[in-house]
Order: sequence, then structure tokens, then C-alpha cells
Amino acid sequence: MVLRLDHWIGGKAEPPATGDYIVSRNPRTGAAVAEIARGTAPDIALACAAAEAAQREWADRSPADRGRILTGVALALRAELEAVVEAEAAETGAPIARFGVEGAAQYLEFYGAVVRTLGGETIDLGAGATCFTRREPFGVVAVITPWNGPLNQACRDSAPALAAGNTVVLKPSEFTSSSALMFARIASDAGLPEGVLNVVTGTGPEAGAALVEHPAVRKVSFTGSVATGRAIGRVAAERVIPLTLELGGKSPNVVFADADIERAAAYAAMSFTANTGQVCSANSRLLVSEEIHDELVERVVGVVADVRPGREMGPIITEPQFARVQDYFAVAAADGATLVTGGRTATEGELANGFFVEPTIYTDVRNDMRIAQEEIFGPVLAVISFADEEEAVRIANDTPYGLAASVWTRDIARALRVAGRLQAGQVSVNGGPLGIEAPFGGYKMSGYGREKGVEALHSFTQVKTISISNV
Ligand code: NAD
Repeated sequence: MVLRLDHWIGGKAEPPATGDYIVSRNPRTGAAVAEIARGTAPDIALACAAAEAAQREWADRSPADRGRILTGVALALRAELEAVVEAEAAETGAPIARFGVEGAAQYLEFYGAVVRTLGGETIDLGAGATCFTRREPFGVVAVITPWNGPLNQACRDSAPALAAGNTVVLKPSEFTSSSALMFARIASDAGLPEGVLNVVTGTGPEAGAALVEHPAVRKVSFTGSVATGRAIGRVAAERVIPLTLELGGKSPNVVFADADIERAAAYAAMSFTANTGQVCSANSRLLVSEEIHDELVERVVGVVADVRPGREMGPIITEPQFARVQDYFAVAAADGATLVTGGRTATEGELANGFFVEPTIYTDVRNDMRIAQEEIFGPVLAVISFADEEEAVRIANDTPYGLAASVWTRDIARALRVAGRLQAGQVSVNGGPLGIEAPFGGYKMSGYGREKGVEALHSFTQVKTISISNV
């Protein structure tokens, strides 16, 4: 039976004003999963009013109190983890859904704790005054998220926003709204006051646009495509409200000849196939020293042989996106790239009704080819060889994006030199981990503002200076 899901507004389920619902589907099978409320401007107005009404009381609490509640919400989420993972996986088809939902709980735990460090500074203006700063919330924050890590991305922004004393109206992707709605119910049950977190579902042009335009919204945090980020940016500019944009990427993985080739190969394979390549920070370009090109490619192909569509690797999220990935197979061929493995859909047996493609690797790629410049958002790796460090850095930086980058070398001086020159918000050296404690965000067209880490908590505050005359 298909589940019917309403918005979550003011601590309870709320049917859509229009009475209309959108069907979400399982990309593994095409089967209907849920009927999601089709949100429009009146639903957004209701949610914003609930968020506005709750905000003062929430902000007046101590950070410790808000933190305690968020930590309780994390515990409650963990208690229902399996059910949330199941709901999310039904809409994404992703074998890594558990990893994403587990990460969502970690955001709540991290910001629930770190908010207790929230504070300002004192500024010495001499004996005649006491001057200090406070970090205050904006008020109502809009969080708009995509489908590739649904609850993870929702909590990545909502947790620091709530911790800082804002209230939130969340608009998840219309393809994957179930886990956010479950989460909002869990949070309410765990003691998050009504109106503090609201979820309005629906499409971008209807629900998302109405949210960004609503006068109660004082900051927007958006994760998604460049085109939508631009559209939201225009509205935010008009309304003079701050915006965090986490957009796409075409991230380079730069492997020098002195690298640990085995580890570099495993990492390269993981980084373009994880979540079927539907990861904004996926390393979709492999830049390899020409000295080790053939050996590295052979090893990556070897690792990828064990990444099977339908097993280790899930489907592409929607039919249009599935078609788009296949278009890039044609583009790569027309542009003269050499197909090493993949380049096909996977349709055998139980995969027949799903949007599955094979992990795909191209060599002989020039960096000006479309598969090296455009974000495909599928498991497609473009391999480009370089002669020396200078050329590696030049190619790595030669895209409109700048979200993430990786470097592999045993020469620590070179690692630091190259990491410093790469135009990316995050650089991993020799597989260095990038946890939720570490700031994440884009250079260039990958966006601006930072998520994760203490930076995200601060990004949901505005600084107020208070100066008291001592005379
Ligand atoms: P998208 O931009 O189409 O949609 C993202 C969200 O915005 C959805 O909730 C959608 O309904 C909403 N939306 C669409 N039009 C809107 C409008 N006019 N006003 C307000 N909201 C609107 O992106 P997508 O296809 O869901 O996600 C894929 C993209 O997201 C990729 O480009 C990927 O790189 C990017 N992404 C970035 C990050 C990051 O952290 N940088 C993370 C995940 C995904």
C-alpha cells in the first residue's frame, strides 16, 4: 500500500491546502513508495507562521538547553534508525542509506554539544566602556535540500541552524521526502517544541520558491544544482537575506608517480562510484602522472569490477537523470574519449525496471571535453594524464567548480604545495578523512558559505555588538 504523507507544521501532520499529492517512486523498481503532500504558498505561509511563533522562546533558551534537546532528538532518531533507513532507501534505492541517516544523527549530536561553546568576545575600548559581541540567530531559516543524501543533508543544515536558536522550515526534494517527515515527527516526540522544525514537501517551483520569497524567512541554506542556486540567489539578493549555497562539483583526484598506488586506486574507485556517483564532492576526474597512468587505470578497473549495479551500487535517482547519464556516454564517444569499462545501462534480471548503469571509466580525456567540465552526477570517471606538478595543478583548477580535491603523493612538501594551490573548499591528502567536524563548501561555482564544523554554527548567527558606558 502506498503511504500518504502530509506536511509537518507546528508539531503535527498538516494536509496540503490544495489537497493534491505527488507520488514518489523507488528507482530500483519503479514502484510507487509514498504520496507526498504537494505544498504551495498557503502551506509555506502556515509553516513560516508556526516557525515565527516558536522562534523567540526557542532562542531565549540557553544553548545548553537547546543542545540537550537536540541530543535527545539524536537518540530518538537512533532508536528508530532502521525504519528511517528503510523509508529513505525505498526512495533513493541507495545501499548506503544507513550511512547517511547515521550521519544525520551525528550532526544533531555534534551541534547539540558544540553549541555550548557559542559566545562572543569583549572588545577593549578603554576604561570608559564595556563592549562585547553576541551571536544571535537570524529568526526563521529556510533549508532546501536535494535527493542524494536526503536526511543527512537536511540535518547538516537544520542541526546547526536550530542549535543557534533559529527555527527551520525544511523543503526536502520531492523525490525523497519520507525520511525528513519521519524525522520531524520523531523530533517532536523527543521534545523539540512545536513550530521549531517544520517540513513542507512539494516541488521546487511551487513550495521551494514560495519559501525563499516568504517575508518571515531571514536566511536560506540551499543544497542543489547551480541553476537553482542562481534562481534562489536572485530572490535572496532582492530581499537582502543571506544565503549559503552548496552546489555541484567536478572534483579532481591528483595522483603523482610516488603515490601509494594501491590505496590511491581503491580511493579513486570508491570516490566516483559511491552513491552511484551522485555525490557533489565525488572525485569525477582522475588526474594521473603519465609515468603511472596505465598501472593506476588497470588497478582502478580491477577494484571497480567488484562494484556491481544493484548490489554495491544503487540506481540513478530518476528517469530524466538516467537518460542524462546515458547522453554523456554518447558525448564522451563523440568527443573521442576511450571507453575502458562500463558505458552501458545494466538491465539484467531484477535490474530490468530500475535506472541502473555500470561504473564507467574513460581515458584519453582532454580537460576541455564535456565529460571533464560538466557535472554528470553518475558513476563516470574521466582520466586525464599530466606531465608534471605545474600541469597537474593547472588542469585540476581548470573547471568552473571548486568543491573538493584529493592529492596522492609521498612527498609531503609537494602535498602541501599542491593542496595550497588547489581551488577547492576541501582537500584530502593520501585519503585523509573529512568528517562533520571539518568545514565543507565551495570555491567558484560550487557555491559559498560553509557547512559542517563550527563554521556552520556561526553561519546561522549574526553578530551583535553591545557597548555599555562605564561612566
Ligand atoms: P535541484 O537544484 O534541482 O533541487 C534541489 C532542491 O531545490 C529540491 O528540493 C528542489 O525541489 C528545490 N528547488 C528547485 N527549484 C527551486 C526554486 N526555484 N526555488 C526553490 N527551491 C527549488 O538539485 P537536485 O537535482 O535535487 O540535486 C542535484 C544537484 O545538487 C547536483 O548538482 C549536486 O551537485 C548538488 N548537490 C550539492 C551538494 C553540496 O553539498 N554541494 C550536495 C548534494 C547535491
